[in-house]
Amino acid sequence: MPTSEMGTVAYLAEPGRVEFRKYPVPEPGPGEIVTTVDRANVCGSELHIWRGDHPEIKEGSLGHEALCRIDSLGEGVETDYAGEPVEEGDLIAPVYYLTCRNCTACLHGQFHLCENVYEYWSRSPEEPPHFHGTFGTHYVVHQDQYFYKIPEGLDPSIAAGANCALSQVMFGLDETGVEYGDSVVVQGGGGLGLNAIAYANERGAETILVEGVEGRIDRGREFGVDHVVDFRQYDSVDARAERVRELTDGVGADVGVEVAGVPEAFTEGISLLRDGGRYLEMGNVTPGAMTDFDPGLLTRKSIDITSVVRYDPWYLHRALEFLAEQTDTYPYEDLIDAEFNLLDVDEALQQSDSREVTRATLLPH
Ligand SMILES: [Zn+2]
Ligand SMILES: [Zn+2]
Repeated sequence: MPTSEMGTVAYLAEPGRVEFRKYPVPEPGPGEIVTTVDRANVCGSELHIWRGDHPEIKEGSLGHEALCRIDSLGEGVETDYAGEPVEEGDLIAPVYYLTCRNCTACLHGQFHLCENVYEYWSRSPEEPPHFHGTFGTHYVVHQDQYFYKIPEGLDPSIAAGANCALSQVMFGLDETGVEYGDSVVVQGGGGLGLNAIAYANERGAETILVEGVEGRIDRGREFGVDHVVDFRQYDSVDARAERVRELTDGVGADVGVEVAGVPEAFTEGISLLRDGGRYLEMGNVTPGAMTDFDPGLLTRKSIDITSVVRYDPWYLHRALEFLAEQTDTYPYEDLIDAEFNLLDVDEALQQSDSREVTRATLLPH
């Protein structure tokens, strides 16, 4: 690769203001891969930072969901993390964080909680190797950053989202334990919710979606949900809990999945479950947003609560395999509803923020 090649990154100079900067494309160090970004999705985390809602991050590189093409391999990189040989030109999906395997969490096998996950997350592009975020023409995959080759035949536009929502959902539901015949109530029909429905279906569960937005309900049906509890029809927590009991032999759901991302959903979720049920908290990610909590009810109902952030990195491999197998079963291609040139990243962020589009993709080339 000629050392004179320049690449572009979208840089958040301050909340709401994105600038483009150019840097020389680096040579990969040992264990690294320099890639060109094939496509990158706009996800909730970018919007959170872009709006200025993140408690610490107010500037830096943006982007974490992406599909990348290998430009040059650093010394020692011969396969992906599933042992598949890789070469220049291959399409890969990188996990969006690092797994150091040396910290306390890693030593306990909790790779998703690695203390060094965000070594390069949102770093200033001024710092070499410059390409720290996926909103750019290039992206550097670091040592200790798991990545996987895209399975043959999998549509790149579908594969690009695997390293966030789907991996997250598969990990969360596995940690909670969803078994054949379980009833699973999903609170919220956004990207996480649709993936939860699809994955729970494939595990042999009966699924219930609690949602009040028409388009999201329609999509839930397209993703094979068995029942919908419509907020507009069941307009109180009691009414929704009653409806879920009707759908579950009068007892409540075996498993609840909070992917609505509002604190009140947590309180409500407990009331949708049967005694001895299991609850997965995954949608609320901002500390400090409060809701009422009834510990006595929790004890009486003996609910197991599981909460997860990120996922063990090999889940990305499972997610890609899942997508490759289920492409014809679920309309994943409909989830990406807008494509933008990288240079129109402002527009992509604005339209995602105002929910004019559900999932925007940036195409840098
Ligand atoms: Zn670690
Ligand atoms: Zn994401």
